[in-house]
Amino acid sequence: MERVIMWFRQDLRLADNPALDFSCAAERVLPVFIWDPDLEWGPQGAQKVWLHHSLESLSHDLAEKGSRLIVRQGPTEKVLSDLIAEFEADTVVWNRCYEPAVIVRDKGIKANLKAQGIEAHSFNGSLLFEPWQVKTLSGGPYKVFTPFWKNALAQERTFDMAPEPQALPAVATRHSSEAIADLALLPTIAWHTEIEKFWQVGEAAAQQKLNHFLDQDVVAYHEQRNTPSVDGTSLLSPHLHFGELSPRQVWHTAQQHPSSEGRRVFLSEIGWREFAYHIMYHFPHTIQQAMDARFDSFPWKPDQGELARWKKGQTGYPIVDAGMRQLWETGWMHNRVRMIVASFLTKDLLLPWQSGAQWFWDTLVDADLASNSLGWQWAAGSGADAAPFFRIFNPISQGEKFDKEGRYVRRWVPEIAQLPNKYLHKPWEAPPLTLLEAGIILGRDYPEPMVDHKVAREDALAAFGSIKKK
Ligand code: FAD
Repeated sequence: MERVIMWFRQDLRLADNPALDFSCAAERVLPVFIWDPDLEWGPQGAQKVWLHHSLESLSHDLAEKGSRLIVRQGPTEKVLSDLIAEFEADTVVWNRCYEPAVIVRDKGIKANLKAQGIEAHSFNGSLLFEPWQVKTLSGGPYKVFTPFWKNALAQERTFDMAPEPQALPAVATRHSSEAIADLALLPTIAWHTEIEKFWQVGEAAAQQKLNHFLDQDVVAYHEQRNTPSVDGTSLLSPHLHFGELSPRQVWHTAQQHPSSEGRRVFLSEIGWREFAYHIMYHFPHTIQQAMDARFDSFPWKPDQGELARWKKGQTGYPIVDAGMRQLWETGWMHNRVRMIVASFLTKDLLLPWQSGAQWFWDTLVDADLASNSLGWQWAAGSGADAAPFFRIFNPISQGEKFDKEGRYVRRWVPEIAQLPNKYLHKPWEAPPLTLLEAGIILGRDYPEPMVDHKVAREDALAAFGSIKKK
């Protein structure tokens, strides 16, 4: 192995990057990123904003090691084969991705390379356990999280980390790169400025955030993770999605902190990420279709403008609207609120979970095919280890329970901030004088609720009744 192409994908980091570590044994290394706009389930909207900055960061970090990131765009197979010819590569290496279309593509690429006498090696750079590694007693996949995670934790867990390269060989100037800006990942209409203010992107920022979270917040994680007004969760999801940080690094760094209930629960959330990949790998259809086949004939309602109101955070239910606005502004939404807004869309509005998942796909910086599909199917009641359909979140009591003081709603729905706590999660019940004092005319300053939750709940249960016995 003399001339290696290190193909970066969702592993935009230098530390604990097994493919990069492997390539360091070669004389020449060409670090490459290929932007293929036609990739099925490729990054959209907010993810592209993240990707732009993450590539800038990786490019900078590679330059510091004496190397250079080569960025190209076009159909992956064609770009890769041009690069192989140009660089006279004898080996191509990458870390595995598990999206169904990418698995098919990569298998084809590997077979083609081998047929041409070019070595191809892929590695696990983004999971603690390969999706096929954790098996039930009968050798099949799990469909329920708790036994999955129990079995996973019972396996040998060394999680060896690859060292960060000290230095990398220089890349000859004849290998040209497109400018990252030429990929046009940033939107032309600037809807993303708040996202850019909110996040620090890149490997160094991810490490800092992990350390800060483990030093400050992990101990209380199990108590605070359900309070959306508190920074009680790690906010690591986009870093993990783009591979600026590996779950092995999370695991190892967490082990260096004292054992606590917070740490245990936090690591089990990392386990949910593993479970999501396990499910996507073994049941690839679940990225678009219900895991529970009864839901194929669920009587979803046709959209008559409700989806747009939900997206804009104009449903009239403050906790739902707060979440949708947080999502739009920051590219992220608190997990508790993701569950509430997803339940509202699928059960109060009876709109298909796929339309909500699609909106999340466009707007989340952490949009991840495995976790998003699992999360939406969980909320809709149609997925692996899902909440039963009849468990319908009440957006009023959820708000009152998890945003008791109303800090979250007041932050994201400022037009009702002056309402007393008693009515904050149900402004339509406030007496006229209270509304007047809070400066609100319902229907003008803030919408009337778009559905009556009690009625919607009954409708949802009736709809579920129609498929229940199938
Ligand atoms: P923490 O609470 O700090 O958790 C640590 C890490 O564990 C997260 O960064 C994430 O990688 C993982 N994790 C936590 N909860 C889950 C979970 N339920 N499923 C899978 N992994 C989890 N997560 C995504 O990363 N991408 C998505 O596209 C996504 N879509 C979702 C859609 C819905 C409808 C729901 C209910 C959940 C979704 N989640 C998704 C899971 C979860 O909401 C986010 O991972 C979490 O809010 C990220 O914030 P954090 O990094 O502060 O999480």
